Amino acid sequence: MTTLTLVRGDITRQSADAIVNAANSSLLGGGGVDGAIHRRGGPAILEDCRRLRASHYGRGLPTGQAVATTAGDLDARWVIHTVGPRFTPEADRSELLASCYRESLRVADELGARTVAFPAVSAGIYGWPLEDAARIAVETVRAAETSVEEVRFVLFDERAYEAFAARLR
Ligand code: ADP
Repeated sequence: MTTLTLVRGDITRQSADAIVNAANSSLLGGGGVDGAIHRRGGPAILEDCRRLRASHYGRGLPTGQAVATTAGDLDARWVIHTVGPRFTPEADRSELLASCYRESLRVADELGARTVAFPAVSAGIYGWPLEDAARIAVETVRAAETSVEEVRFVLFDERAYEAFAARLR
């Protein structure tokens, strides 16, 4: 049984086995939660990301996939980087967003992580409407077959928190 919990706050302050990063495909850092994780986690995360680029993802991590690195100075063992789809009204990319949650949990299972903290993937710079992002996140995690015991959604602002809270009720 996976318990879904909800917290309003900064994901880099969370203590969990794994913290999920809404990365971009370069894996070399960016804005939003990605920037915050690299800033607080320190250079060890970027070093791991560079190694992964060189060894496995020369063209970047594809959208919807996930990969783990050290969590550096964060209070976690791993950061799981996943690349959300950019929202576009022309094409339905919901399946790719669902894949981010499924693949992150699959990686978490491989690592043996029991607690995993997620931000609202794609709901920032990538423009995904919050209510829909929350629906996909919650539905996908609820349906996932995983050994993770707690999935914690960590929402940065009140609107995001409320959107997830409405889905979890
Ligand atoms: P994306 O490019 O996938 O949209 P963003 O990082 O821009 O990723 O935003 C994803 C979500 O993460 C947004 O809801 C944003 O408000 C939130 N966010 C930004 N910084 C943090 C943080 N430190 N902790 C948790 N959530 C954050």
